[in-house]
Amino acid sequence: MNSTWNKSVRNSIKSADEANHQLDVECFYEGKFPIKIPLEFADKIEAGNPLDPLLLQVLPSTSQTQEGFSVSPLEDEKHSPIRGVIHKYPSRVLLIASQVCAIHCQYCFRQNFDYEERDILSNWRQIEQYLQENLGINEVILSGGDPLTLSDGKIEKIVKSVEGVERIKTLRIHSRTAVVVPSRITDKLADILSKTRLKVVMVFHINHPREVSLDFINQVKKLQSLTLLNQSVLLKGVNDNASILGTLSHKLFASSIIPYYLHLLDKVIGAEHFLISDLRAKEIYRELQNSLSGYLLPKLVRDEGGESKSLLV
Ligand code: SF4
Repeated sequence: MNSTWNKSVRNSIKSADEANHQLDVECFYEGKFPIKIPLEFADKIEAGNPLDPLLLQVLPSTSQTQEGFSVSPLEDEKHSPIRGVIHKYPSRVLLIASQVCAIHCQYCFRQNFDYEERDILSNWRQIEQYLQENLGINEVILSGGDPLTLSDGKIEKIVKSVEGVERIKTLRIHSRTAVVVPSRITDKLADILSKTRLKVVMVFHINHPREVSLDFINQVKKLQSLTLLNQSVLLKGVNDNASILGTLSHKLFASSIIPYYLHLLDKVIGAEHFLISDLRAKEIYRELQNSLSGYLLPKLVRDEGGESKSLLV
């Protein structure tokens, strides 16, 4: 495992006391979803500012549960035919590649997901058989947790196994680790992903332009042979502003990353304070539409019943 990124993840801030001390604030307390802030991300938070948009994403909630919020808003568990697999659409299958994330985003819809029961590495033989037998599948999505918390060696093993199923053409990887710990984009990882016969689509998860840091910009240059997309979540206090989202789109595009989806919040308990009304979301989006070229405009979507549905404006 590469020592720089591994050290950054291993030495993450993991308690409220530590977070308050290192970030020079008093707003952290121990919440339901444990605190986890990797050092490379913590370095980008403005010390002493409890309203910093990067800090707010990792700050546990003090809000009350509201109607319509649940522990598992997307009900992924209902679409898990075997351990490690979520299969909602005939042509693509999502694999829970890792039980771990490099960061704990306090709005995450999977914060209550039972990873112990569903990771793939402990069930790889059965998963290979599932990929062989389900003839409609042509795309494999590695998600988690975050697949890039696995070592390069494990990723190489997964890529080679997927390559072995001739029918599968595309490998999609969803990752926030590559953004919050840019040193995770190692030369070896870039090599594995650029040499496979599979068409690799890397979907980053970036919510704020300050996350597109100089070190991320430099590291992501290694992945230019892949298709690079981004998805964001519209979060109150973090990016609920057309100017911030416009700046994010421009910064992404400058690094050859296409702004792809802007998700409305999934209503998971603990994330109530991030919610923006549909009306406000549409206002922000109209403003964004008026200021950006079409290729810089992400689709505004809500995940419903396993699908990302466009929120028409
Ligand atoms: S990295 Fe992704 S899966 Fe992990 S906590 Fe953040 S949003 Fe959730």
